[in-house]
Amino acid sequence: MNSTKAMGIQYDQMTDDQFYALFRDSSYKDLNDAARQEILQEAANRSAKMDGEDHAATVVLTDLHDPRIAGLQSGETIYLNSAYYGEKAAAKASPMEALETVLHEERHHYQEMAVQGLAPASPEQLKAFQANMGTEVQLSDGRKGYTYATGAPTSGQLSDGIYRAQPIESDAYRTSEERTKAIANRQTELMNNEKNPIVWLLNSGDKNAMSKYVQNVDKAGYDQQIQNAGRIFGVNNLEAEVKTAFTNIFYNESRRVNPVVSFMVEMEQAASYTQNNTQTQGQSQGQGQTYGQAQTRGQAGNGRAPNAQNSLTQHGLSTPGNSGLTAAETGGRWAQWAAQHVSAQSSVIKR
Ligand SMILES: [Zn+2]
Repeated sequence: MNSTKAMGIQYDQMTDDQFYALFRDSSYKDLNDAARQEILQEAANRSAKMDGEDHAATVVLTDLHDPRIAGLQSGETIYLNSAYYGEKAAAKASPMEALETVLHEERHHYQEMAVQGLAPASPEQLKAFQANMGTEVQLSDGRKGYTYATGAPTSGQLSDGIYRAQPIESDAYRTSEERTKAIANRQTELMNNEKNPIVWLLNSGDKNAMSKYVQNVDKAGYDQQIQNAGRIFGVNNLEAEVKTAFTNIFYNESRRVNPVVSFMVEMEQAASYTQNNTQTQGQSQGQGQTYGQAQTRGQAGNGRAPNAQNSLTQHGLSTPGNSGLTAAETGGRWAQWAAQHVSAQSSVIKR
């Protein structure tokens, strides 16, 4: 595990109840970026342990120069956007959103470990993860495809639906929301029963931030977003249909699948392939940097973060101030791509 000892505090020695109390509004708002990064790391460590991993990815809190991206994971690194979660963030996100985002990204790290045989998963999970890891495939019409749908702007809400419903995103969204909700509910219970509430009263913050998070997830969280997207496609179980489409392509199977979903998944995989190639070219010519094949995934506001408008077409786009990217800000590559390719009407791009 990556060690977490901000300010001499050994977070890894705390119980869950003690540790997650640091995500109460009253605590988190007074932490500086170094301390935030360390508790977010410890949260990733605890989540990795739940998933049977022997380590978590390394958490970096940095400006991703794009308000549409809350966080992303690339190999052994998780980047969280300080524009949301940093001490100087103009748009203050709830600490629970920071927590959910880091758990989402860590879950992608787990998926990669599982596919490499380094973390446990059921055969069914493995089959779906593998079919969605971002590799090159041949599509039914002979085009090349990429097996991670980036939410390419081929058709707005449909693209966004495929992006969200694809197996590894479905798994990451559901797992992180579920874990964050459980933490929020437990902390709310503790706060309501605290014999000596002086610690958080002194330093108040929003003491309802945890329960508000839960309410928001129940009202406008992933499940709601998928149901809305399913209505647009006219299917009852969008995730199951999308999973079948992905596994049909990757394993060359021909299981029964909704034809609209199947068509859109091929469109998205073709567009994602083109996007990756364009991106790699642009990077190597423009900045003298190459990043290899995309294995970078992120999470934007979920319809709940600042600036988000609604679940499927969120984030009114302004031009990202992405000219000052450094190599460390690997995630900025997506901002760069988005600035070039995403129009104001398109759906949000996340990894
Ligand atoms: Zn994701």
